[in-house]
Amino acid sequence: MTRDPRYDILFEPIRIGPVQAPNRFYQVPHCNGMGLLRPRMLAAMRGIKAEGGWGVICTEYCSIHPSSDDLPHPYASLWDPADIKAHALMTDKVHEFGALAGVELWAGGAGSANLLTREVALGVDSMPNLTGHPFQTRAMDKKDIRNLRRWHKNAALRAREAGFDIVYIYATHGYLLSQFLSPEHNHRTDEYGGTLENRVRLVRELIQETKEAVGDTCAVAVRMAADDGTGTAEQPVSAEELPDLWDVNVKDYQHEMGVSRFVKEGSLEKTMSYVKSITSKPVVTVGRFTSPDTMVSQIRRGIVDFIGAARPSIADPFLPRKIEEGRLDDIRECIGCNICYTGDSLSVPIRCTQNPTMGEEWRRGWHPERIQSRNSDATILVIGAGPAGLEATRALGQRGYKVILAEATTELGGRVAQECRLPGLAEWGRVRDYRVHQIQVMPNVDIFRDNNLSAEDVLGIGAEHIVVATGSSWRADGFGRYHHQPCRDLGPQEQIFTPDDIFMGRVPSGKVVLFDDDHYYMGSVLAELLVEQGADVCFVTPENLAAAWGVNSDEQYQTQQRLLQLGVEVVTAHGLDEFDGSSVRLSCVYTARTRVLAADAILLVTARTPTDALYKDLEKMVSAHSPSSSTPSLSKIGDCDAPAIIASAIYAGHRYARELETDIEHSDIVRQDKLFDPD
Ligand code: ADP
Ligand code: SF4
Repeated sequence: MTRDPRYDILFEPIRIGPVQAPNRFYQVPHCNGMGLLRPRMLAAMRGIKAEGGWGVICTEYCSIHPSSDDLPHPYASLWDPADIKAHALMTDKVHEFGALAGVELWAGGAGSANLLTREVALGVDSMPNLTGHPFQTRAMDKKDIRNLRRWHKNAALRAREAGFDIVYIYATHGYLLSQFLSPEHNHRTDEYGGTLENRVRLVRELIQETKEAVGDTCAVAVRMAADDGTGTAEQPVSAEELPDLWDVNVKDYQHEMGVSRFVKEGSLEKTMSYVKSITSKPVVTVGRFTSPDTMVSQIRRGIVDFIGAARPSIADPFLPRKIEEGRLDDIRECIGCNICYTGDSLSVPIRCTQNPTMGEEWRRGWHPERIQSRNSDATILVIGAGPAGLEATRALGQRGYKVILAEATTELGGRVAQECRLPGLAEWGRVRDYRVHQIQVMPNVDIFRDNNLSAEDVLGIGAEHIVVATGSSWRADGFGRYHHQPCRDLGPQEQIFTPDDIFMGRVPSGKVVLFDDDHYYMGSVLAELLVEQGADVCFVTPENLAAAWGVNSDEQYQTQQRLLQLGVEVVTAHGLDEFDGSSVRLSCVYTARTRVLAADAILLVTARTPTDALYKDLEKMVSAHSPSSSTPSLSKIGDCDAPAIIASAIYAGHRYARELETDIEHSDIVRQDKLFDPD
């Protein structure tokens, strides 16, 4: 297949100062939970994106000096020769495929607590740490500013030595330079505070000094927010032509990389579209762009020169190549769930719901597009077409095995098919759509719907390998983190509801107490659905925040805000003790003081039970016979093994397919990138 000429513009080379990008696909800086801790994993991950056609590949935030340290969140660093060697692993891989490598030099200010280095953080002012740690910054004096400029310049020189082509001045996201720019944070009375010209002074100095240091061979980029008070159409930044490239975003991080429930494709345009009118330099921004038509439109309408992406490049490192080869249906579109971001929040290597190979490129040698061929002529029976079963089928089919996929219902997609009908979650259907499209065109895959298989049915099929992916169901007895036993005091069954009831159209009305002991999205999304349908909802959680785990995916604030805006009463730090059919009794998790609320129904979002009866029956029947060459192998994957997030089910399905009929041992997982030995 060949490229549609409509998309030719995306593949034009673009000059950025002294360097040239091979096309307009630009992976902006993004965190990944690897950073300075796991350089080999990182280099492999970035290299695959270059192979997939991204013309520019950037690092995450890269500390210029130990006074900017963000551990436990794994940032990158360019402090010494060992760092140079670590980064060279990445730049070499990026260059191998003709892409440019960019580095986002970072000074943390009040955004870095320096828990590792114990350096005093330097700030525009003496101000409290912005991530909640009980430290304040030291207000930078002239000597500190001189030092910062020297550190930045030295880091730029090290960046060039490491092989980078683009060096960033990072002046957004609340870190040091954005605090200098901000009229809200910058209260200085010297030449670095007050007027716009003064507030921009440090950024201008850093641009000029970086250019002097490395500008003959490296492009100098500035990353800043279009709406931080220095860059509105009325008040443009006074450095329009200084850098070689503007990487523009907005100051609200939850908008810039908001989950799809709250923020849709291309949503920064309104805020940043003026930038191209005030500079002749190339402009890049993000917008969770996955549609080539939207990308072309952004360029033709003069909004951007480069299509910036973090998440779309994570979900599909080969997105540019697929557009180039006219394979649009093969694009694995990001669903905007932000599971990728939880890697950084939780200080563990990145994972992705759509792309199970993300973060596993070095550790497991997984490639997002390639997989080893089958090892035999065996037939594999996959039971259940949720995310686990669909991904196992897709990857086994890709390996060339003959695969039979049996699904009990008419619909493919399992939980994803149900959840994508909930308010705001439509894009989650992409998890199903990508996989169904892939397997429907595989001649070696047969799909059987409306096949609720029994153990006898399964064994009658005679497959050499059986993998059970039958999912899970929500519990209706209150068991969960708060109640370690099923609750004894729950009233009439007909007034008790679970998410599964709602999926099947059995919806409570009147006064509904929703007890959320799951703490992720399900409770709040269902609360929204019930409010839409006229219920009066009270959201009760034992945590101190509604949907507390959403802190990790950066959606908790918006979630609680949405609940409050909908008029949902949010009761935090309370457990559910009793429901008698007309009221619930709650108790405070700190004091055990009780509180009674009127309730016509309760909706329990607590825990799930694996749907593993079929697996257990099969296990018994298979083990009743003495093993022979015709005894099938039996496995269970996904929620039927251990209920978890969708990303885990996709990963389990993928892993099963990769490891089938290989000698890969479970212990191979311990291959870690713990310490980087530069020699
Ligand atoms: P996961 O997240 O692990 O993929 P899901 O709950 O999303 O799990 O999907 C499980 C799928 O398995 C559902 O579509 C369900 O209808 C199907 N299923 C459950 N039991 C059987 C069975 N006995 N035979 C065939 N399909 C089944
Ligand atoms: Fe997109 Fe979710 Fe993957 Fe992140 S984890 S890239 S948001 S699909």
